[in-house]
Amino acid sequence: MTTSPTNAHPATQQGGPAAGVRWDLSDLFASPDDPRLEAEIARSLDAARAFAARYRGRVGGLDGAALAEAVDALEALSEPLSRVLAYAGLLFAADTSAPRHGALLQHVQERASEIRNTLVFFELEWVALGDAEAERVLADPACARRRHWLASSRRYRPHVLSEPEERILEETANTGRRAFGRLFDEILGSLRFRLEHAGRSEELSEEEVLAKLYEPDRELRRAAAQALTQGLRQNARTLTFLFNTLVQDKAVTDRLRRYGDPMAERHLANEIEPAAVSALLAACEARFPLVARYYRLKAKLLGLPRLEEFDRYAPLPGKEGVRAFDEARRIVLDAYADFSPEMAGIAGQFFERRWIDAELRAGKRGGAFSASTVPDLHPYVLLNYTGNLRDVMTLAHELGHGVHQYLARGRGLFEQDTPLTTAETASVFGEMLVFRRLLKEEPDPRVRLALLCGKLEDAFATVFRQVVMTRFEERLHAARRGEGELETARVNALWLEVSRPMFGDAVHLSDDYGWWWLYIPHFVHSPFYCYAYAFGELLVLALIRRYDEEGAAFVPRYLELLAAGSSDSPPALLRRVGLDIGDPGFWDGGLALLEGLVDDAERAAASLQG
Ligand SMILES: [Zn+2]
Repeated sequence: MTTSPTNAHPATQQGGPAAGVRWDLSDLFASPDDPRLEAEIARSLDAARAFAARYRGRVGGLDGAALAEAVDALEALSEPLSRVLAYAGLLFAADTSAPRHGALLQHVQERASEIRNTLVFFELEWVALGDAEAERVLADPACARRRHWLASSRRYRPHVLSEPEERILEETANTGRRAFGRLFDEILGSLRFRLEHAGRSEELSEEEVLAKLYEPDRELRRAAAQALTQGLRQNARTLTFLFNTLVQDKAVTDRLRRYGDPMAERHLANEIEPAAVSALLAACEARFPLVARYYRLKAKLLGLPRLEEFDRYAPLPGKEGVRAFDEARRIVLDAYADFSPEMAGIAGQFFERRWIDAELRAGKRGGAFSASTVPDLHPYVLLNYTGNLRDVMTLAHELGHGVHQYLARGRGLFEQDTPLTTAETASVFGEMLVFRRLLKEEPDPRVRLALLCGKLEDAFATVFRQVVMTRFEERLHAARRGEGELETARVNALWLEVSRPMFGDAVHLSDDYGWWWLYIPHFVHSPFYCYAYAFGELLVLALIRRYDEEGAAFVPRYLELLAAGSSDSPPALLRRVGLDIGDPGFWDGGLALLEGLVDDAERAAASLQG
């Protein structure tokens, strides 16, 4: 859910095509001054202390019924705190430049640490219980409703530390890892990129300069790429220090927690076998030639001998204008309604009840996300809507998350959020529905070709680019562990080394491109997040195939899958819709579907020229 942090937008860009579309956070709290904020924190803290007084030192002796009851109590006392955390996070995202938003977030995180520290004994005692003893308790039907939660929390058994150690790590994270993460957001949020083009010079935010890479004017794209490189170079020293610090912080934590591999912790959190991820990465790498094949076609369509890095997102001739936000809303809701009126109804509420913030605004965080809050409320969606087709897809994507989170609320706080691997299911599925709807509605074969190419480029960004990013992180963490603090130039070289093979000879990546790892927030906020996107996209292609085969019968099973949240492991939930992700050939099915789309694009291009 974390995405690229942003900047303020210059006065002329204020608002954009979604001007006035702001969320209403009053379902959570009235304002940062609302006295209920402190009251809710106190409610969680008091309940946490009472919980500790009741259960500390006794977890190992609880029977199934008592254990389930304890988890219920833990979940209930976590809700007031979760409500406050959600509010502080959303308020900060809406305006990162307001010092009091940052101060509130910091305050809430510190209080949250106090509560977590009061409760940490529970999981530690549960995890410390011997396997045979734990299995005996878990077999008790009286704890069936908490079985998955209890069983899966035991997977951390080899990696937890003693209670005093856990408490120290939790508290120091606020001035360590979490503080550096916020600093990254604030630096990127205040960064300005100087664009020199056609005799004019203007200062742009990160969001805006990246948007220029989608412009039809090649010189404008080139100038935007230069502005991006220049802005990143000027801040490279601070950002490189920040990356070095976080990568080393992870190395230390991994050592203390006995994780052998930098990715191991993420796999465990994702409830996925390392072998399944290796199979996914290898299957994608084996299809890199498909990427080069597509970009050769794109070069031909653009009339260029070879593409440069700033041509990758160039629109095809005769494509798009700016779409009003209401138009985007209609397209997405219609596409959702084709699939399921229930799904469209849920998505519609985000607009009607102001759960969405889409306008461009000074200080607002960049990128897009959907954030679940607490089960008795609803998620909130943030995006920065500039009106291009990609933003329509982003709207479809985030509303997919929104629908997923909304449906899974019924599972309660502990099971409403899925692991990353399946977190991207409904979002990518939603994009696919919108893509197909647009393709069907479009009479002009040139525009249909452009849509097809747009979908391929998105899919490549979601599958292959994320595989490249994962490989980059592997090398980055290995290099820092083996070589000590890294210079920017060294990391630039690593970034180019892993990026070039994907494009083969079809796209030339200049040395300037070497700097472009510096703004990617996933590396900062959630190491090794990226493969989950590839996982999600290929999974969705498999789901779409299933939908095509089964038609309307598939719809209720899909909605049930979403509503199941994380009540079981992803492989178990997916088996219910007939998918086996343990099969090493599984990933190739989705990749073959992408190859089919490239075939379609080549054919469409040939018939236009003929
Ligand atoms: Zn997403």
